[in-house]
Amino acid sequence: MKALLVNYEYCTGCHSCEVACRNELGLAAGEFGIKITEVGPYKYTEDLGLENNWEWVYVPVLTKACNLCEDRSKLGKLPSCVQACQAWCLYYGEAEDLVKKFDGKTRWSLFSK
Ligand code: SF4
Ligand code: SF4
Repeated sequence: MKALLVNYEYCTGCHSCEVACRNELGLAAGEFGIKITEVGPYKYTEDLGLENNWEWVYVPVLTKACNLCEDRSKLGKLPSCVQACQAWCLYYGEAEDLVKKFDGKTRWSLFSK
């Protein structure tokens, strides 16, 4: 099963993936195939034993418009969003291969259809 893996620990919130996807799918302004959400900034009041008590991440979320770039995939090309991400936090491939990237140190999310 094809999937898209996100290491959102390193997402800078640059929105390049959103723009690349909108161009790929021909979406109107305000429509998204991938959308950057933001969590934080805030500091945890309880001592959670974390190295850094601040939470502030950008989390790319795939919407129902995403078709995992099926046309590009048939041509052996990477999805547009993956190609556009300069921070190397988007990966495309077989779900069973992608989960091997989980390192137990950074935060990941896996999307499929
Ligand atoms: S895989 Fe393709 S359709 Fe899906 S979010 Fe990325 S660019 Fe958009
Ligand atoms: S292009 Fe990469 S770094 Fe930029 S918002 Fe998208 S996922 Fe995050």
